[in-house]
Amino acid sequence: MDDCLFCKIVSGDIPAEVVHTTERTVAFRDLNPQAPTHVLVVPRDHYANAAALAAGDPEASAELVRTAAAVAAAEGYADDYRLVFNTGAGAGQTVFHTHLHLLAGRDLGWPPG
Ligand code: AMP
Ligand code: ZN
Repeated sequence: MDDCLFCKIVSGDIPAEVVHTTERTVAFRDLNPQAPTHVLVVPRDHYANAAALAAGDPEASAELVRTAAAVAAAEGYADDYRLVFNTGAGAGQTVFHTHLHLLAGRDLGWPPG
């Protein structure tokens, strides 16, 4: 998609600190980290949110979670991490290209607030 920030990160047109890639996903560090490890995992193809990705490409949806788990393990947090999909502006979604937040490395309280 022409005017999408995360499509441009996937294509390399906008730089990011990429930490892991797979056939269908790219994982890169969040620009404004909310935890010692804060990585965004995105599908290479453009879908607006997690449900749209699950409907359109279920295998990519599963690969997002596998990639996040691999990054968590690589950073030493195999057993304690949080995965978040913000969906809709009212829930804090600001970039409308599916992205899975991986947060780890600090006390992650519940409920998240
Ligand atoms: P959300 O609010 O769930 O849509 O998450 C969007 C996330 O993208 C936020 O946590 C931002 O800090 C992050 N972000 C925005 N621009 C960039 C960028 N150029 N590189 C990396 N992360 C970004
Ligand atoms: Zn996109």
